[in-house]
Amino acid sequence: MKLQNINLENNLKTFTNFAENHSNEIPYSLTLDFKKHKGHIVFSGLVHGNETGSLPAIIRIIQDLLSKKISYGGKISFFLGNIPAAQQNVRFIEMDLNRSFGESAATNTTIEAKRARELTPLLQQADVYYDFHQTIMPCLRPFYIFEMDFQSYYWARSTGIANTYVTRKKGAAFSNLGMCTDEYVRSLQKVGITIELGEKGFQKDAELYAYLIMKRAIKNMDLVYLHNCSIKKLAHKNEDFEFMQIKYKEKFDHPNKRLHQGFSNFKFIDKNDSIGFDGNNKPLIAPLSGNLLFPKYPPRDENNQAKSPLPGELYVIAQKMNFHPLKWLSAYKSRENPSRTPNSK
Ligand SMILES: [Zn+2]
Repeated sequence: MKLQNINLENNLKTFTNFAENHSNEIPYSLTLDFKKHKGHIVFSGLVHGNETGSLPAIIRIIQDLLSKKISYGGKISFFLGNIPAAQQNVRFIEMDLNRSFGESAATNTTIEAKRARELTPLLQQADVYYDFHQTIMPCLRPFYIFEMDFQSYYWARSTGIANTYVTRKKGAAFSNLGMCTDEYVRSLQKVGITIELGEKGFQKDAELYAYLIMKRAIKNMDLVYLHNCSIKKLAHKNEDFEFMQIKYKEKFDHPNKRLHQGFSNFKFIDKNDSIGFDGNNKPLIAPLSGNLLFPKYPPRDENNQAKSPLPGELYVIAQKMNFHPLKWLSAYKSRENPSRTPNSK
């Protein structure tokens, strides 16, 4: 058995042992309630199966909470998203679990859509939710990524650890396929945050970042829910982020489309650079300058055609923002009935 698999099975065994004693009825999930306040924070890992980096940190945090090494007064839950995918060391089996939430996936019969429906009641109870991810390719730094929202932004900034925040306008869906976990929680007017911890797999950096983020978020829960501190004030004690905005998404609409080998996250590309091949085997041209994010290299057959199901996007381009994204929200507040369906632009 490969080291990755041994690590995974050992960690899953430890998690399952904790979950047996602290069951919340959902498989691969557990809840601890310290009953001093009503605040409920939820953390998740493995929503993408091969993004295992946060798992050892989740186990350490549970151990530290149970041994009282970390003190906490509220409710706290953990879940591991896609176990079958993790055991095969793949992102997902039939459909991306992180595109399986909300109405558009409600009647879907994939194992991921079923898992999403199993997890939905827990997400509905969350006041604050952090979802740990990792990138497919190497990553130059950890970063937050979620749509701009007052409360979620303040929680992320008060937590810190990652200094870059890739954001988008409220109501702008991350993907056209379905809702992400954090997107679903924000649609309930609660705090939903996604963090990319670095490159996928068991990594010491990812484990440390995830551990520190959870420790700080737990402390902030007590400050807010037990001691009535303002999350905005707590946020302002930390430096602000470097803000980036996704300005372009290359649809993965043809199996022949591909990037040249070796693109890492945040690699700067110039407008008109040839970065791969399109559906007709012509050069794929960067439509604007910026930092390339989420380059995808799915398995391909002998004719270089990517195997189904194709990811939603081949890559995206982010650019540094020259204004503060809170500016979007003053405009947003005056708008009635903002559209939140994942398919709207
Ligand atoms: Zn992910």
